[in-house]
This record gives sequence, C-alpha cells and structure tokens, in this order.
Amino acid sequence: MKKIIVTGAAGFLGSHLTKDLLQKGHKVLAIDNFLSGSYRNLGDEIKNDRLTLIEHDVSDELILGLEEVKGTDELYHLASLASPAFYKKMPFETIAANTIGTRNMLEIARINQSKFLFTSTSEVYGDPEVTPQSEEYLGSVNTWGPRACYDEAKRLGEVICYEYFHRYKVQVKIARIFNTYSGGLRCDDGRAISNFVNQALHDKDITIYGDGTQTRSFCYIDDSIHALQLMMEKEEATGEIINIGNPVEHTILYIAQLVKKLTQSNSKITFQPLTQDDPKMRCPKIDKAIRLLGWKPTIDLEEGLRRTIHSYMTNHKGITTI
Ligand code: UDP
Repeated sequence: MKKIIVTGAAGFLGSHLTKDLLQKGHKVLAIDNFLSGSYRNLGDEIKNDRLTLIEHDVSDELILGLEEVKGTDELYHLASLASPAFYKKMPFETIAANTIGTRNMLEIARINQSKFLFTSTSEVYGDPEVTPQSEEYLGSVNTWGPRACYDEAKRLGEVICYEYFHRYKVQVKIARIFNTYSGGLRCDDGRAISNFVNQALHDKDITIYGDGTQTRSFCYIDDSIHALQLMMEKEEATGEIINIGNPVEHTILYIAQLVKKLTQSNSKITFQPLTQDDPKMRCPKIDKAIRLLGWKPTIDLEEGLRRTIHSYMTNHKGITTI
C-alpha cells in the first residue's frame, strides 16, 4: 500500500483518479480547495478509511507544514480550474494553482523524495500551426488573451518541474492532457461534450461556437486515468513530457451531430460567435506514450459518448443549469 497525494481530488480528473487509487488499496491524501470540485464527485469512496480529505489551496504555503503530507510515496498534482468557462472567470486562481501551487507540491515531493506527476495540457501548444502536435512542438500561445492565464500558467508549471528535476533530482513526470470527458464533468462545466449532451438530453439548442469546423480529439476518462498511473509507475517516464490523448480527430460540428443522433434528441444545432483564441485544431501525436508506456486509448468516441449519455441520464436526471 502506497501513500499518495492527489491535488484537485474533488475535481473531474482528480476524483476519478482518487477513487481508482483507493480501489487499488492505496492510502490517499486528497487535497482540494472546492473552487470547482465537489464532495459528490468522490461518491461512496468518501467514507473509505484510507482516504483523508483536506480542504486547502495548493498555492497556500501553509500546506507544506501539514503533518498529513509526511511520508508520501507519490504525488499527482492535478489541482487547477480546467474548463475555459471557469478559468476565464478566475484567472488569478488558475495562475496561482499551476505556478505557486506547483512549486509547493514539488517541495513536498523533494522533502519526501516522492515521485511527482504534473498534469499539464495540450493548451501549451496554443493555436497550433502543425498537426498532429508532438511533444517537441514549441507551441503558439497568445499571452495577451483570455486563455493565457491557463496556457501560460501550465507552461510555467512545466518550467518549475524542469528546475526541480535538474536541480533537486525530483522524479518528475509531465502529462500533457488533451480534451478528456465523461459523465463526471459538471453539467455547467461549459466544455463541448458536457454542454452538447446536456443540451441534447433536454431538447435545448446545441450551441456550436463558430462554424464548427474547428477540430478536437476527445479521450474518455478511463483511458486518461490509466495513462497517468502508467506514467507514475514507469521509470522511463521520469523527466519526460508525454502527450496523453486520443489521436482520432473530429470537427466540433460532427461531435454535435453524433451527440444528437445518440441521444435521439429534437435539439436544433445552432451557431454562436466563436470565442477569442479558440484553437482551430488540436490532435495529439502519441508515439511517445505508446513507446514509453505501452499505452494508447481503448475507448472510441461513440462508446465513450454512450457511457457519458448514460451517466448524465442516471446521475443528473433533471439537474442542469444550461
Ligand atoms: N464548443 C462549442 N460549444 C460549446 C462548448 C464548446 O462549440 O457549447 C467548442 C469550443 O469553442 C472549442 C471546442 O468546442 O472549439 C472544445 O471546447 P472545450 O471548451 O470543450 O475545450 P477546449 O478544447 O476549448 O479547451
């Protein structure tokens, strides 16, 4: 049994990971500031006596003095707002979690000699000029725009990881996560799949921003969580940046149409103004994940959407703010 810290443990990715680690028999110290996370995400595991849940902000350095962080074997630093709708509303919190918060978590890893994984993002590639995006691509990020608080904070988070890897030999791993989804996304999360599915289930207008020709590659949560654990486990992933995502790319219009078909919805597909700096395309090159982790996604979009639709229908019946 390992002692594992998960930050952002009440959020979308963090709660899935925490539940999985508990089910595998580990002890988890779950940290969350509940800015977007919720207790509900942890389900029945909230009662698990191997779970310690602390409400704390990772950017508050008092966290370094907590007794509970001692003796940690592994630290997954996931804490951050991740939905564009949320981080645009709370830019300073987003910047703090990924920069000061990353430094604080790296200090905990350094002191405890624990393995450390930082969830970076495909957003470090900004509005890319090449496709698919490999880890070597340096990105095209606008620093003077509403997405910069997230993109640049994640980029600086990676820099801090680099310094701790080189100066202090912390066993750092960086996952650049591409669009991930499941029914675990809040109904009001604001991202494409949670919006489309909830709109379709309630026969409301499906809102496409722009003309829908922009592309994304969506990875189902179970595949992403598996990849993060392989990264933590594998020696080969130490000191490496690895894209984690599904390389099958679709237009947003196609995804809206597929959701409408699978839900047998009467919703109308509508077109709204495109938001500033919305990347025109995004698709991961995952050769490195295949080579170092022996990982590639196993759940295709249609299967993932079926599970997502089922989950919203059973868990959130009648609850939507869209
Ligand atoms: N999008 C959309 N309608 C929505 C939500 C999102 O057309 O209701 C588009 C958004 O403009 C972007 C893509 O879907 O081009 C993916 O958006 P999301 O917020 O899921 O993640 P992003 O890839 O932008 O981080």
